[in-house]
Amino acid sequence: MKCKCGNKAVIYRKYEGRALCKKHFLESVDKIVRRTINSNNLIRRGEKIAVGVSGGKDSSLLLYYINNIGRERDIKVEAILVDEGIKSYRTVKYAKNLCKKLDVKLHVVSFKKEIGKTLDKIVKNVNEIKACTYCGVFRRYLLNKKAREIKADKLAIGHNLDDEVQSILANYIRGDLLRASRVGARAWIIRNKKFIPRIKPLREIPEKETALYVLLKKIKVDFKECPYSGDSFRSDMREIINDLEEKYPGIKFSILRTFDKLKPSLKKQIKMNKIDYCKECKEPSSQKICKVCLLKEKLDL
Ligand code: SF4
Repeated sequence: MKCKCGNKAVIYRKYEGRALCKKHFLESVDKIVRRTINSNNLIRRGEKIAVGVSGGKDSSLLLYYINNIGRERDIKVEAILVDEGIKSYRTVKYAKNLCKKLDVKLHVVSFKKEIGKTLDKIVKNVNEIKACTYCGVFRRYLLNKKAREIKADKLAIGHNLDDEVQSILANYIRGDLLRASRVGARAWIIRNKKFIPRIKPLREIPEKETALYVLLKKIKVDFKECPYSGDSFRSDMREIINDLEEKYPGIKFSILRTFDKLKPSLKKQIKMNKIDYCKECKEPSSQKICKVCLLKEKLDL
C-alpha cells in the first residue's frame, strides 16, 4: 500500500479511504489536534496547562504535543499523575521518564494518601463492577484539586475519539442529558473558581492512531490495560462502537459531529442545579454532600 506521495504507507484510514506514509500521517494528526485547539480556543498564550498523565499512549501523546505547542505559545506545562493503587497496572515509571525527557514537572497524587485507600483495597469491599465508578469520581476530584493547587488555567486530559464517542453513547443510553451536555473539547462545567476547566485536544484522533503516533515517534508508553476495565459499562460501549465502525467506517466521526451539532440545543434544555460547597470537604457541589464524600462515607473512610 502506498501513500499519495509514493512512499510506503503506515496506515490505511478506512474512514477516509486513503493510505498515509509516516510523514503524512504525523502531519495529518498534528493538523487535526491544532484545529481542535484553535477552533475551540482551548489554549491561550501565556497560560499554565496541567496535563493529566498516566504513562499510557493517549496522555503521553498529549503531554508531548502540549509541550511542543508550549514552546511556541509561551505556555507553562506541568503534569499530574493519579496513582489509583492498582498493583498489576499503575506505574509511574513511564510518565516519570517522559516528563524527565521533556523537562516537565511531574506531580504524583495517590488514592492511598488523599482518599485513604488504594483502588485495589476499595474493590475488595465493593462489587468489582463498581471499580470505575469509584475510580472515576476520585480521579476527577484529585486531578482538579491538584491542578488548582498548582494554579493551572486549564487541565488537559487525553480523551481520544473513541473515549468521546463512548461517553456520548453511554450518556444517551442512560438518559443522562446533564452529563451528555458536558461532553466536548472544552468540558462544560459550571463556572466556579474551584473548578479548573478541562480540555480535550485529542478528541478527534482515533485510539488506534494515538497508538501509532507514539510508536512512530518512539515515545515509550505503557500499553497495559487496567484489570478492571473489562467490567465497565464503557467497555461494552467500546465493543459495540468498534463493531459498528468495522461495518460502517466513519461512524465514530459521524456520532461525534452529530453530537456537536446537537450540543447547543442540549445545553439550553439542561437546568443546572445551583452550585454550592460540600458541607464536608468544601469542594463545589450541587448537593449538600458531594459525590466524593458520599463514596468515602460508604467505604468508611
Ligand atoms: Fe479506573 Fe476503570 Fe480506568 Fe481502571 S478502567 S483506571 S478502574 S476508570
